[in-house]
Parts: sequence; C-alpha cells; structure tokens
Amino acid sequence: METKIIRVEEGNKEGEWLAEAGEMIKRGGLVAFPTETVYGLGGDALQEESARKIYQAKGRPSDNPLIVHICCWEDIDTIVREVPEAARKLAKAFWPGPLTMVLHKSERVPYTTTGGLDTVAVRMPAHWIALALIRAAGGYVAAPSANRSGRPSPTLAEYVKEDMEGRIDMILEGDCAEIGLESTIVDLTGEIPIILRPGCITRQMLEQVVGQVEVDETILKGTASQIPLAPGMKYRHYAPKGELTIVKGSGDCVIKAINQRVAEAQERGEKVGVIGTDEMVSLYQADSVKSAGSREDEKSIAQALYRILREFDDEEITVIYAEALGDVEEEKGMGQAIMNRLLKAAGYRMEEV
Ligand code: AMP
Ligand code: MG
Repeated sequence: METKIIRVEEGNKEGEWLAEAGEMIKRGGLVAFPTETVYGLGGDALQEESARKIYQAKGRPSDNPLIVHICCWEDIDTIVREVPEAARKLAKAFWPGPLTMVLHKSERVPYTTTGGLDTVAVRMPAHWIALALIRAAGGYVAAPSANRSGRPSPTLAEYVKEDMEGRIDMILEGDCAEIGLESTIVDLTGEIPIILRPGCITRQMLEQVVGQVEVDETILKGTASQIPLAPGMKYRHYAPKGELTIVKGSGDCVIKAINQRVAEAQERGEKVGVIGTDEMVSLYQADSVKSAGSREDEKSIAQALYRILREFDDEEITVIYAEALGDVEEEKGMGQAIMNRLLKAAGYRMEEV
C-alpha cells in the first residue's frame, strides 16, 4: 500500500488536506495525525472494518481497545449509553485535552472498536489538526497511538513514517507532540472514578473537580504481577530494543552504580546507552549518553522520553541504564506518568542502590 504523506503547516485550516483526509477515514481508510499527547492512527470508530484495519496495521492484539476521539461535546451522546455527572464536569474542566474517560458504550459503537468490552474510552484532543480531522471524518475517530505494537509511541511524524509507511493510507505531518506521553485514562463506570493510566492530568487535578478518585493499584505498585484494569496495560508497551534497567537511589550512588554496570556490560560486548538528567549526565561513561532534560522540568522529560528510546534503537544499543526519571508515588506533576512508562519500557526491571 502506498502511504500518502502530507505536511500540514501551522494554521492551514483551509487546505485540501482536510477534505482528503476526512474522506479517507469516511471511506474506511486509516490516517495518522498529530495530537497534543502523541501521534494517533485514526479510523472511523463506527465502522467495524476500520478498527480491524487499525489492529492489523499496528500488529496489535484485538482485545486491546481503542480510544474514540470526538471534536464536540454533544457527540458523546452517540457513543455512550448515558453521561454521568462526573463526565460532564471533567469534560468541562479538561476537554479538549489529555484526558480519556471510560463510559458504558452505546449500540452504535462496534465491539471491534472496544476490544469486545461494553465500555468505550472517549477523548477530545487539544490539537487543531486532530479536531479539524475528526470533524471532517464525520465526528468519531478511533485512534490508538500510531506506532507498531510494542514500540514507543511516536512523538514525531518521522517516527510514524518509520513504523507505518506502507501499512496505512495517509500520514498528516505536524510538529513534535507537545506533551509526549499518552492521555490520562479514568474509568467512570463505577461509583468512584479510577485512574487506569496516569498522564498529564493528575489524580489531584481530577479530585478538585469530582472529589475522591482512586488509582489502579498496578500503577502504584509498579509490578507486572497483577492484571491491570485497562486491558491494554497488560501488554509490554513502550519497549526499546535494548534491555533497559532503571537504577534508583541517591545521585552519587546512581552514578557509581550505572558506570560500573556499563563497564561490565561493555566487557561482555554490549553496546550500552544511559538515560540521565541534565544534572548528572556529564558524569556517565557509555557508548551513548542522553539527557531527558532537567529534573526541575518534568515536562521536558515527558516530551523527550520516547524519542530517546527510539534513538537508542537506531544506534543499535543493546543494553540501557536509566536514572529513575520520576516517582510512581508522586501525585503532583508528571512524575507518576513518566515513571509508569519507564517501568513498562524496562519490563519493571529496577535496581535500588
Ligand atoms: P493507546 O491509544 O494506544 O494509548 O491505547 C489505548 C488505551 O486505552 C489502552 O491501554 C486501552 O487498554 C485503554 N482503553 C481503551 N478503551 C478502554 C476501555 N473501554 N476500558 C479500559 N481501558 C480502555
Ligand atoms: Mg499505544
């Protein structure tokens, strides 16, 4: 399949790209597009066949449900059975934005889109290209991240091309994804909202709007031993090709431990990468050393993480050591989301030193 690649310049709302991409989705095709979290791979959420194509293009297991993206609040009535008050309040506070809500699905949404579940995940993204495309495509776009299953989510159009060229109909090229990590997912089908995946919108922020919110334990424990509530969270996501280990502890101990492990791995013939932070990065010796940003600036770390993992793949790094770039217990800022993704990328391998 030939993939048409269209660069969409900032603010070009009148261009031909829009009708062309919208038609493509309406006809059952797949179009990758930028959002503020990561690039998405979009198909019509109400067509069974489109969801099937998405799973196939990604190489994703078909029991891993897709998020349905909408562009205006009223459209939610088409895809959910009822809209609870909490959903209304959260949408008012955080949409458009990086928050996905899980609700009971309506009959209009095919089970292929929801991976066989009676619930549906819904989000309104805060990116003008995404919003314009959803509107042009008829209003309901199922879109998981636009990576091959198991690879880090794409934060740049270049990475979408790497994973999807030849497998989908079209790629809309925009700029670097601003946030760099996927949306927060909150399940609103029970009495108390539960966070299934941490993201830019934190528990504290949600609680200010709807009161008590719980967090799925598998996120906090950071172990692979329990089955997470979000079906997709059980798969090993965000994986680089090299074997990644997180080294956690005080600054000096971490530097010493990482340098020692790097030297040992190099002895064994491995090509070794280190993910550090601006504060410590000059103190590592390895084949490739990268900083994710300053510890003072979590946003830059969130934005850089997936890019760095992909760069190590390109450099054929076989072993990676990373500082603990956040804290899964952290309730403020993006530390929990960052660490959740890093732990998954590491297959939960973490050493305390
Ligand atoms: P992605 O769009 O690639 O970031 O993946 C979508 C994520 O949303 C997966 O981890 C899914 O498990 C989760 N998700 C989608 N729909 C539901 C649902 N109905 N209930 C729980 N989690 C969901
Ligand atoms: Mg994904």
